[in-house]
Amino acid sequence: SHPTVYEPLTEQGAISLTVRLGLFPEGTPLACREIGDGNLNLVFRVVDQQTKKGIIVKQALPYAKVVGESWPLTLKRAVIESNALRTFASYVPQYVPKVYYSDESLAITVMEDLSHLQIARKGLIEGKTYPLLSQHIGEFIAKTSFYTSDFGMNQQEKKQLAQSFVNPELCKITEDLVFTDPFFNHETNNFEDELRDDVEALWNDDKLRLEVAKLKRKFLTEGDALIHGDLHTGSIFASDEETKIIDPEFAFYGPFGFDIGQFFANLLLNALSRPEQQQEPLFAHIDKTWDVFATIFSDLWRTHNVEPYAKTEGLLEDVLHHTFIDAIGFAGCEVIRRTIGLAHVADLDGIEDKEERLQAKRYALRLGRSLILQRETLSSTKEIRSLFAQTV
Ligand code: ADP
Ligand code: MG
Ligand code: MG
Repeated sequence: SHPTVYEPLTEQGAISLTVRLGLFPEGTPLACREIGDGNLNLVFRVVDQQTKKGIIVKQALPYAKVVGESWPLTLKRAVIESNALRTFASYVPQYVPKVYYSDESLAITVMEDLSHLQIARKGLIEGKTYPLLSQHIGEFIAKTSFYTSDFGMNQQEKKQLAQSFVNPELCKITEDLVFTDPFFNHETNNFEDELRDDVEALWNDDKLRLEVAKLKRKFLTEGDALIHGDLHTGSIFASDEETKIIDPEFAFYGPFGFDIGQFFANLLLNALSRPEQQQEPLFAHIDKTWDVFATIFSDLWRTHNVEPYAKTEGLLEDVLHHTFIDAIGFAGCEVIRRTIGLAHVADLDGIEDKEERLQAKRYALRLGRSLILQRETLSSTKEIRSLFAQTV
């Protein structure tokens, strides 16, 4: 019996599904475990016990796992995720897992097993540097955002595509948890008592609030391109050679700078957790991400632009300039929310010594604030080093 109306899968159900789909020959000795460590979904890994070859079955739950059944959340995010993976694969198949199957009513995506790689956040916490990470992420963002924008795609088709990625409930999570709650005395916030003075200073900072409000407005209104929407280092599998991006359930038509900013922020959060002499590879990744993004985006702009204004002197520079400033501002919001908001990062929470941990978090709050307030004065990513040095 194969369910056709929604129910949460069991491990046995995940096994049956992969067999029914022909992903393993009948009679293969299979084992399955739920391995999800995320906040929202179930992730099953079905493995052939002889060859060790695996398949991943991800299923959305009708609520957010991190909060529980009291926080209902649309199952449609599974369709958004599988469609985003397929759309990204049409431009950069090398950077996403293959999708073998998806089922809208069961909220399931069946995909390539990436267990030979490591979640980048974990590796970065262990001190790894992943030499190709920023090259790959820069290329991923440049190509997917150029080709899904009004510059890289027929504008009528783009509007249709944008319609299929309308994602209000997941966007609301970002609107609340990234752009709003951390800057107000809101019940979703989560921080140590020792940080209260620093946090209250943020809440009383009118200049900061105005800048965050401007950034939130961009997130709410600017539909430049299909963006990933949750591109932190926990959404990236990496090795020294390969990079794969997972978990695009927050994908929607949003501002060009958002993914870049979230990625920068998570590199900075990791830098805050490291001794000073091990921080440079993270700054170098930020530089490289931007350089690769800007170079590839500019090349595509010159060679594949469908917009009559493409050759207008100054337009590309204007788009890149605003993307840069926005990315820095979005990074600031992300650094702050990962420090005092609902969902933290292991980079900071995992610092064992309490005083060190609190100090890193104070620095994070100051760094986030500087990124937001000084974003328009930075002329290159290189200057993030001095901004960082001034806050720590
Ligand atoms: P959530 O949306 O709940 O955050 P994720 O897609 O981030 O779910 O997956 C949660 C975890 O499941 C990942 O951190 C990873 O450990 C594992 N996982 C997800 N997708 C894969 C995959 N394709 N291959 C191997 N492991 C995966
Ligand atoms: Mg995730
Ligand atoms: Mg997710």
